[in-house]
Amino acid sequence: MSPGSLLLLLCTALLAAGLGAAAVLVLQAPARSRTRAAMRQRLRAAEFFRMAAEDARDGLAIHDLDSVMLWANPAYLAKMGRTADEVIGRSPLDYAFPAGERPSRSEVRAMLNDMQAGRVERQKLYRQQRGDGTLFWSRVSFGFRTTSRGETRVILVCRDVTEVVEQAEDLRRLRNRLAHEASHDALTGLANRAELGRFMDETLRSATASGEQVAVLRLDIDHFKEINDTHGHQAGDEALVCVAQRLRAALRRSDMVARVGGDEFVVICPAVPDLAALERLGRGLSAALSRPFPFNGVDLYARASIGCALSQPGQSDHHELLLQSDFALYEAKRTGRGRVVVYDEGLHRRHARLQSRAADLREAVGANALDHVFQPVVELATGRISGFETLVRWHHAGEGLISPADFLPLAEDLGLLSTIDLASMEAALAMKRRLSAAGHGQVRLSFNASSDLLRHPSFVNRLVFGTESAGMERDQIAIEVLETTVFTDHGEADSPARIISNLREAGFNVYLDDFGVGYAGLAHLAELAITGIKLDRALVRQVLSNRASAKIIATIIDLCRELGLRVIAEGVEDAATARRLQQMGCPHVQGYWLSPPVPATEALAFAAAHPGTTPLPGPQQSLTLM
Ligand code: C2E
Ligand code: CA
Ligand code: CA
Repeated sequence: MSPGSLLLLLCTALLAAGLGAAAVLVLQAPARSRTRAAMRQRLRAAEFFRMAAEDARDGLAIHDLDSVMLWANPAYLAKMGRTADEVIGRSPLDYAFPAGERPSRSEVRAMLNDMQAGRVERQKLYRQQRGDGTLFWSRVSFGFRTTSRGETRVILVCRDVTEVVEQAEDLRRLRNRLAHEASHDALTGLANRAELGRFMDETLRSATASGEQVAVLRLDIDHFKEINDTHGHQAGDEALVCVAQRLRAALRRSDMVARVGGDEFVVICPAVPDLAALERLGRGLSAALSRPFPFNGVDLYARASIGCALSQPGQSDHHELLLQSDFALYEAKRTGRGRVVVYDEGLHRRHARLQSRAADLREAVGANALDHVFQPVVELATGRISGFETLVRWHHAGEGLISPADFLPLAEDLGLLSTIDLASMEAALAMKRRLSAAGHGQVRLSFNASSDLLRHPSFVNRLVFGTESAGMERDQIAIEVLETTVFTDHGEADSPARIISNLREAGFNVYLDDFGVGYAGLAHLAELAITGIKLDRALVRQVLSNRASAKIIATIIDLCRELGLRVIAEGVEDAATARRLQQMGCPHVQGYWLSPPVPATEALAFAAAHPGTTPLPGPQQSLTLM
């Protein structure tokens, strides 16, 4: 290469390397001058360029269109870890690339043509190999110049960008990890709810295209809370991990397992032909979970209830499918746990009925269309009506009267319970006003309060306001709370126990309802700030026929007397039962013997008919009160 053309090429290289204005000024010197001064100037310029090229931090190199290296600066040689002899006259394709990543000569030739013609960007990122075999990332800029003899030269400016690339790689890995964490459950590594929805949408789309059906299996570990409570959270965690592993092992690669709640899992299987295959699949998973898993030397079990549903051809809404599997799971749990239930035609009909019932209930509650009836409580010694319990009723247009026992659980699921309870409270207060106006000022009114009502932020305020504005004595109002409500107390600030004691301090009465069955926590009697208890009707029913029940009732009554608590026996259906209870020291009864729950007008008439001015002739005379 002639000094002139080398100068020109170097100049280009320096420009590409960003070496600035000085070089440009020198380049503008009169290059073609034949005078000595001009020659001297050219030589000086060449010296400057050489100095700059030698000092440049970027690797500079020049090769021809066949990639045969003609010149390289010290930085290039240093970066490549090679001597000039190892480089000049050879092609970078032979020494600069790790094996397996070498582009072919024809590829490079074509690329250089495209770059020269401006069809592709003149910059490339390459992984390069040094003389000692170590690797680094190089960003190579390509320039093209033609020498005075008409030869095309390729000018390379190579910059080591390993650090930047590695940072970018770290960033990519971090981004992937975050994306994974956002879509996966940390404990089991399974997909989470968000990922499940995405996967289901995708699977339903391709199932629609291929005409296949997608299976959804929803699993809930039976008695998981017990594992946690008895063996600790670590055991619970291990149970979940074990379930995750067993499910994964029992499924195909194309299936998905997601953890969607504490102990709830969802399995999605594309291409399940029919309900029989779906049920087999469910049984398979159930069997996989039936073996115990060891924890601290004991065998623990994490069996599951499983609800299964199959998509309809062309179904695209994954929410509906999840809802169906959820309903099947609910059914599996309701009918005894550890079961596999498939969402079939029959279940679909029941589901549809329940859904329409839910819609009707929502509407009825929204329109404040529920009714209230009142059941009297009598004081046995005097025959006086001492109170009424307010009970809710739902008259359904199509199904007739639906019992609260049937619709209250549904109301709870729908989040309507506290609204219903507040309406019962208002009904109780209204009834109390009517009774007072009719001269029955001493008849107490009670209403049932679920834990949803107790925790309702405006419950106590509304109760206080309701009694205050009517000028009512707070002592004339009673709130009935189920023992289970108190039993699930965890000591929080808005715990039922705390609210009960607030109500009592405010002057209201609180009764523990359905007492004597279930938990029958005698300790509650001493701990809670209650007014008294309502003896459960299941126990009361047996007072004559079952000696153990009679003994329990007698014990409870004695204990309550000692603790200064009042007792009301519920579900008293005949005079003999009333008499026995009176002998045992139970002062108040409620039940069909006296009256069923009745509408407000009848309740008023009932109170008028039983003022209690003369003592009750005694429950010996059956139906004296009726
Ligand atoms: P509960 O609080 O134990 O109410 C007494 C239930 O026993 C009422 O059933 C009543 O009709 C029934 N009963 C009364 N006397 C007799 C009898 O002599 N024999 C028999 N076998 N049963 C009798 P109901 O009205 O069907 O209410 C069922 C349950 O629903 C209530 O049990 C109560 O726990 C709940 N409930 C009713 N209304 C409300 C409400 O407004 N809010 C809440 N949270 N729960 C309510
Ligand atoms: Ca009650
Ligand atoms: Ca009760």
